[in-house]
Amino acid sequence: GAVAVSAAAVRALRAAHTLLHDQEERLGKLDAVAGDGDHGRGMCKGVDAALAAAEQAEDADAARAALLAAAGDAWAAEAGGTSGALWGAGLRAAGSALPADRPAEPAELAAAARAALEAVTSLGGARPGDKTLVDALDPFVTAFARSVGEGAGAGAAFAAAAAEAGTAAEATARLSPRLGRARPLAERSVGTPDPGATSLAMVLTEAATALAT
Ligand code: ADP
Ligand code: MG
Ligand code: MG
Repeated sequence: GAVAVSAAAVRALRAAHTLLHDQEERLGKLDAVAGDGDHGRGMCKGVDAALAAAEQAEDADAARAALLAAAGDAWAAEAGGTSGALWGAGLRAAGSALPADRPAEPAELAAAARAALEAVTSLGGARPGDKTLVDALDPFVTAFARSVGEGAGAGAAFAAAAAEAGTAAEATARLSPRLGRARPLAERSVGTPDPGATSLAMVLTEAATALAT
């Protein structure tokens, strides 16, 4: 059935908040292999701001989808770093794609996920295989749409797609980065998964659990 987006978004952001603070150090270490080591801190700053903005919008009873867009704007404003700008743009695009005044159907959620991917690729220019968070987001979006097309409910489709994102994030270990701050030390990164793909897949998996309960 249809999903009440604002309540689901707040639940997912709360789960992401707990997860990212738990994983801050691990994500920083992953980013320090070939990048500048700030990915854990950046994700924490982003999710702190996004959750606060979402809770404020929920209290103010803002239009449902506007909450996700406000969360994205706050994430981009506070996180800093490449991933912060991309997370912000993705959340804003998803929020803007959803119906403002009623719960979203599974196919509308799949379209919103597609809109997030398009915003991320148009802002960052990454393609699958460049060893970025796009390597987790692209398979998530494809798998979500496929499950919904096969008649799965939103929760089941989200969980299946998050699992695919996790597998895809792990598979970035063998890639050499073609974009971003890890590019100059690209060879050092081979054997380690991309930090942004890893954190995205972890957040999606945690959000799937939060949405299922
Ligand atoms: P910064 O690189 O600015 O320090 P972070 O450390 O927070 O930012 O994020 C690094 C992650 O951002 C990378 O692991 C990668 O997943 C992602 N990233 C970097 N550049 C791009 C890009 N152009 N498109 C998509 N994702 C990117
Ligand atoms: Mg970094
Ligand atoms: Mg940085």
